[in-house]
Amino acid sequence: MAPEFSYQDLLPIGEDKTEYRLLSSDGISKFSADGKEFLKVSPAVIENLTEVAIHDISHYLRSEHLAQLAKILKDPESSPNDRFVALDLLKNANISAGGVLPMCQDTGTVIVMGKKGQQVLTTEKDELSISKGVYGAFTKLNLRYSQLAPISTWEEKNTGNNLPAQIEIYSDTDHANEYNFLFIAKGGGSANKSFLYQETKAVLNPKSFLTWLDEKLRSLGTSACPPYHLVVVIGGTSAEFTVKTAKLASTKYLDSLPTKGDAKTGHGFRDLELEKEILKLTQEIGIGAQFGGKYFCHDVRVVRLPRHGASLPIAIAVSCSADRQVKAKITKDGVFIEKLETEPAHFLPATTDEDLDKDEVKIDLSKPMADILANYLSTQQKLE
Ligand code: SF4
Repeated sequence: MAPEFSYQDLLPIGEDKTEYRLLSSDGISKFSADGKEFLKVSPAVIENLTEVAIHDISHYLRSEHLAQLAKILKDPESSPNDRFVALDLLKNANISAGGVLPMCQDTGTVIVMGKKGQQVLTTEKDELSISKGVYGAFTKLNLRYSQLAPISTWEEKNTGNNLPAQIEIYSDTDHANEYNFLFIAKGGGSANKSFLYQETKAVLNPKSFLTWLDEKLRSLGTSACPPYHLVVVIGGTSAEFTVKTAKLASTKYLDSLPTKGDAKTGHGFRDLELEKEILKLTQEIGIGAQFGGKYFCHDVRVVRLPRHGASLPIAIAVSCSADRQVKAKITKDGVFIEKLETEPAHFLPATTDEDLDKDEVKIDLSKPMADILANYLSTQQKLE
């Protein structure tokens, strides 16, 4: 007898606990039809949201990412190299948060995923509105253009505005009057560390799998600027779904997946135990944050997917030190974008007397400015 029918999304993500900030309430209107409330969103709203999203991910990081860098500085097991890299990346984050220079010279390929509720209406092709936003951001901000148009199979030309972007829009029945987005800017080095392996059941046991993975992780190397957010996806209904799941997991989009499988529906889940084991493995490999140490990876996500009995696709992907992604949504209450850290200075270690050398000029702020200046000039003269 056939088992009872049962349905679950392949990637059943849970409640969205993202903290958002309101961008605007303009350009959104409501109307009712057939007893349902519809949202009408003007193209300018999507264009502006995209432009802000590209700005934000080019300059700001998530607080969790910055906290992970700060943790490296405090960990007594970090190598001097780990600490050097973490401190430099924190300084870099502070420069980029100034809003002039982006966090990385490789400003990335723009990848946008939209989930459009069935009761959301737009009046222009959404891919066009999003592309206009990408164009606006890349032509107004100090962002490098990386996209090469193929003119013939052998000849290429930079498009001069970082278009085209990869834009994928899905229909969403779970949030019928919301339009949800994920914006990513993926650098070439980081994208190059996305791998698909067509394996067999022979690696589907803990010992063989970890031996297999150890070799693959060593071959990842450091050219995508670790510490990495590492993802391993095991299984998949197709090769492309396995790799796409790895990309989504690398942005933390799948963090709320269930943590157990289900024989009835076969949905994907996160294996938290294996995540811990793999993180330990990455710490013991010794590559560290670029020049040897413990912090090859900040964290690990493992997603297990259903598979055809004759296939075992496995994907490995990373999000690099330019960990650029942001969620956004358009609802009846307005346009919202995920809050990123705009003031990362508090993640930097405090400067103490030990960081000063003997040549520093001591300034007593309780004295009048004339006295401070006189003291400054005489100290400078002594030093010269
Ligand atoms: S791997 Fe990431 S941090 Fe390194 S250059 Fe590429 S985008 Fe920048």
